[in-house]
Amino acid sequence: MIDLRFDQRFDNIEPFDEKIWLSSPTMHGEELKYMEEAYASNWMSTVGIHIDKIERQLAEYVGVKYVVALSSGTAALHLAVRLAGERLYGTPQAGIGSLAGHKVFCSDMTFGATVNPVAYEGGEAVFIDSERDTWNMSPEALEYAFRRYRDVKLVVYAHLYGTPGKMRQIRKICDAHGALLIEDAAEALGAVYCGISAGNFGDYAVFSFNGNKIITGSSGGALLTNIEEDARKARKWSTQSREEASWYQHEQIGYNYRMSNVIAGIVRGQLEYLEEHIKQKTRIYQRYKEGLCDLSVEMNPWDVENSKPNFWLSCCLINREAMCESVRSEKEYLFVHVFGKTCPDEILEVLKEFHVEGRPLWKPMHLQPVYRNHLYITIDGEVSTDLFHRGLCLPSDNKMTEEQQNKVIKIVCRCFE
Ligand SMILES: *Cc1c(COP(=O)(O)O)cnc(C)c1O
Repeated sequence: MIDLRFDQRFDNIEPFDEKIWLSSPTMHGEELKYMEEAYASNWMSTVGIHIDKIERQLAEYVGVKYVVALSSGTAALHLAVRLAGERLYGTPQAGIGSLAGHKVFCSDMTFGATVNPVAYEGGEAVFIDSERDTWNMSPEALEYAFRRYRDVKLVVYAHLYGTPGKMRQIRKICDAHGALLIEDAAEALGAVYCGISAGNFGDYAVFSFNGNKIITGSSGGALLTNIEEDARKARKWSTQSREEASWYQHEQIGYNYRMSNVIAGIVRGQLEYLEEHIKQKTRIYQRYKEGLCDLSVEMNPWDVENSKPNFWLSCCLINREAMCESVRSEKEYLFVHVFGKTCPDEILEVLKEFHVEGRPLWKPMHLQPVYRNHLYITIDGEVSTDLFHRGLCLPSDNKMTEEQQNKVIKIVCRCFE
């Protein structure tokens, strides 16, 4: 344990009075106005003008024909996975998942919510390693996986931390193997690759409006697709699969996944500030890049020529030569500090002492006990395992001032002393 009182590296630095967050909601006022409109008109449920409005706005912004506003990004992923499953393998009987008995290629380094819906539908996630260039799923490893497991027809791909993956290559590989692509763009709203918005590459794509995303509805999500029939199905499934009849008639399994008009009001207000948030996040990233340039670290990389990330979270990777000895068990860690070296767990512990929130990178799915018996495809060493070992997310809150960020940078620098 770090004890600031006895650690000379941190002499003369005081903890922050107010906590510096990793990424917290940033409200502007319009959100409240639209919520009040919903209240005043009594459209307080899952129908209303805010829902219609944000569906149209998102469709136009991303360039996709249909958007269905839902209760969460996870709900959107579940519907996307079921739509893909039924399209590929037909409609199953009630109680049997649409992917039962089928393998699905999934990003390995991501949030569990990306891949859990495959299990909801009875599928078997096969994890594909990351690439060094963007930390997203490696196109080469995906191509290898398709050659190794020839009957796989579905890919679930996540853009990490707002950095778009190499979607032209990924799309081409999926097309060549006749596979559908689900794009988890939960972290990447507003990011662009080759002039095309994240969310416009998959057969189905997903956004999240969870509280720590680049814009938020407090919760919420959206499903995007160009397939009219599937948009209609998603809408129906999300509202308990009611048939048009005077009583509750059900021909399919349904869910309670629709977004509320109140939440949609918040999202509507936030959408007006998306570009501003991206600008703020970009500046935060640039300041870290400059402030940490003398340390033996790299910032999270992106395809500088072709992509424009939304810089949702700034992350850094400690170079191997600057890593002190450290080990992690399932839930605990140990490290031995030596001069000039540190590790993510030490930096995170120090930040916490100063009242600053950081986070390890996503723990790869193939290392999660719940998925431990699943396949993991890697062609270049275990890239995702290595990133997890050496990387961390730095506080990237929109409301962090330049002064506060300079202090965070100073604290991180001192960890290397
Ligand atoms: C946040 C997130 C989700 C889940 O979104 P919720 O709205 O919280 O359900 C899914 N995938 C990724 C990559 C995320 O970061």
